[in-house]
Amino acid sequence: MLENGLVLWFTGLSGAGKTTTARTLLESFRAAGRKAELLDGDEMRTTISKGLGFSHEDRMENIKRIVYISKLLSRNGIIVLVSAITPYREMRDYARSELPGYVEVFVDCPLEECERRDVKGLYAKARQSQLPHFTGLSDAYEMPEHPDLVIRTMEADVQSNVAAIINELAAKTGGKRP
Ligand code: ADP
Repeated sequence: MLENGLVLWFTGLSGAGKTTTARTLLESFRAAGRKAELLDGDEMRTTISKGLGFSHEDRMENIKRIVYISKLLSRNGIIVLVSAITPYREMRDYARSELPGYVEVFVDCPLEECERRDVKGLYAKARQSQLPHFTGLSDAYEMPEHPDLVIRTMEADVQSNVAAIINELAAKTGGKRP
């Protein structure tokens, strides 16, 4: 798997814990001397995807751009971590088909808990109808049907989830730590 690159794609609702987990994993890879990069969905939307909205078409375009950058990085031996809601199956199927070494990590957290956390105040805004097309409320999150890994952020803390991901990756690569 590693010979073909490694792209850890974190999918899940806003506030599920994608970025928090991916950042901690990124630090762990870097501490182990590996080259790794995090493509954060929010950051992408202020840079390479600036100007794109939340229609089906724009969301697909956003993901296609992230896939493209992931491909460039991963084929040069850089471990890529992507933190993006990626709500539609079509998007995840596209990412899987385009990226050798794609590993889908479903960051599972109930909508009620994400809304309770409301890290960026977005759920409150969406409830007041100030944010149309909001994933989980007014736009679909299609549950991953065949994720490679699942972490549950209500049941386990960040460090345990990161350790579990590293262990599972090692198991997939025949005991070799990525
Ligand atoms: P996302 O990137 O999915 O939108 P964030 O990582 O930005 O989510 O925010 C998740 C929030 O949930 C953070 O405030 C984080 O501290 C909190 N949190 C609580 N428990 C966990 C956990 N086990 N894993 C990750 N985040 C957690």
